[in-house]
Amino acid sequence: MADNRIRSILIVGGGSAGWMTAAMLGHLLKHNCAVTLVESDEIGTVGVGEATIPPIRLFNETLGITEADFVRETKASFKLGIEFVDWGRLGHRYFHQFGVHGRAFDTVAVHHFWLRAREMGEVASLDDHAMAWHIAAAGKMGRPSADPRSVLSTFNYAYHFDAGLYAQFLRRFAEARGVSRVEGKIAAINQHGETGFVESVGLDDGRTLAADLFIDCSGFRSLLLGGALGVPWVDWSHWLPCDRAVAMPSSYDGSALPNEPAAFTPFTRSTAREAGWQWRIPLQHRIGNGYVYCSQYLEDARAADLLASRLDGPALGEPRFLKFQAGMRARHWEKNVIGVGLASGFLEPLESTSIHLIQANISKLMGLFPTRAFDPATSAEFNRIATIETERIRDFIILHYKLMQRDDAPLWRYTAGMTVPETLALKIEHFRSSGRLIAREMDLFAPASWLAVHIGQLNFPEDLDPLLDYRGIDGRDWLAKLRGAMAHEAARLPSHRAYIEQMCGQR
Ligand SMILES: Cc1cc2nc3c(=O)[nH]c(=O)nc-3n(C[C@H](O)[C@H](O)[C@H](O)COP(=O)(O)OP(=O)(O)OC[C@H]3O[C@@H](n4cnc5c(N)ncnc54)[C@H](O)[C@@H]3O)c2cc1C
Repeated sequence: MADNRIRSILIVGGGSAGWMTAAMLGHLLKHNCAVTLVESDEIGTVGVGEATIPPIRLFNETLGITEADFVRETKASFKLGIEFVDWGRLGHRYFHQFGVHGRAFDTVAVHHFWLRAREMGEVASLDDHAMAWHIAAAGKMGRPSADPRSVLSTFNYAYHFDAGLYAQFLRRFAEARGVSRVEGKIAAINQHGETGFVESVGLDDGRTLAADLFIDCSGFRSLLLGGALGVPWVDWSHWLPCDRAVAMPSSYDGSALPNEPAAFTPFTRSTAREAGWQWRIPLQHRIGNGYVYCSQYLEDARAADLLASRLDGPALGEPRFLKFQAGMRARHWEKNVIGVGLASGFLEPLESTSIHLIQANISKLMGLFPTRAFDPATSAEFNRIATIETERIRDFIILHYKLMQRDDAPLWRYTAGMTVPETLALKIEHFRSSGRLIAREMDLFAPASWLAVHIGQLNFPEDLDPLLDYRGIDGRDWLAKLRGAMAHEAARLPSHRAYIEQMCGQR
């Protein structure tokens, strides 16, 4: 058989997408393929992207990166979920936990027992049945248990980290595994006259970089996929109208090592504001803050002023403005170019999913690695999966906007009244009528996540699972025991800060 292996890969861009791809290719191809990354210091990176979801742990594990090294090098903190403040209604808060609520004790799902108990006067919230919330609210952190009998087996976690430090860390990792880095600005993209396949990129100093396979990690510019190959953009801004962000890190009231659990929270906070929402992401050395907003309703300067007036501590540096549009490229893989990261699409960071989508495209690339024949069936399968994955996440993010009950600002009136994708409308309707959660193929967010948002944003079902009435079980005692066991276990854990110090002391 002819040797049709890919012999060279050029990664265009050195943000999180570029270096995550470089690290994985360096790790898996083991010096048997020339992997080069080109990036431009002059252009720089987006540089935000500090909150993640649990699958990031799998990415690091696949690379063989230990948690202690990762947490130390990226000044990471732990994330047990997101606290949503003023979503649903002003003055209301809820927690989107990593993990589940309670533990199944009957055929009927736990939340139906809680909803029935609530009808009978139970005051404990849904959050009170989530282990992740018990730990988060207490400012603690611990490791999930592998024993399914323990309530500590019912939570999961991810990280907050400094995206710039992560890219540097992965750069060292990738270069140690043979990836070469070229500094330079791409000025031309050269394509085959007949096939349109990309053959090389030309730098503005006259150098040319050729490869068999190109990974477009050039960020919003999408130089190869959107630019040279002209893959169309699918616009979702009518569902996700926020199109700007201003970011402004702050210090912990001047203290470098905040021990105050209220400040060093093991969770992200998202607070709904007049024209969007504000994030708060605690790292070891600073707090990441930003205001994601809709430019139709708020001017940039005003957004920056509002954000500055709502920080916990002194601002570190000047505000940084970002422009974007929700949507994705119609195809993530075209000819011999695969888009990873912002080059392939963007969903606003409400559920911290962009880094996950980078990881998802890298993992599909590994599962569908091409030869130089570039079989169209391979790219078609990649694109099919990428589209479903992204649309499922899109729907989950839209859910937060659609279920908004505030009518104090035009953005919220618009999103509450908008028509949503049919796939989402069906899920909302189903939950509203019966309290049941429909899981779909390739849903990144499990039913427990959907439940947290439905209930958190006050979309209470009109009826419950009819099976409940046949069971003759009053779940109230069981739920109370569960809450007690969770509170007990949370109280025994170390503080978030102590957990990190203990971990980073180990090598
Ligand atoms: C406001 C905001 C908040 C976010 N928060 C989160 C979050 O909490 N969690 C999360 O998971 N994600 C988040 N994201 C998304 C996250 O920032 C990105 O997914 C991630 O940074 C990947 O970016 P990237 O590498 O695709 O692009 P970039 O960081 O833009 O990198 C592009 C690279 O391409 C290079 N390049 C571009 N043009 C050229 C050229 N002509 N020649 C040479 N090189 C070139 C640049 O130099 C750079 O190295 C957020 C995004 C935004 C906008």
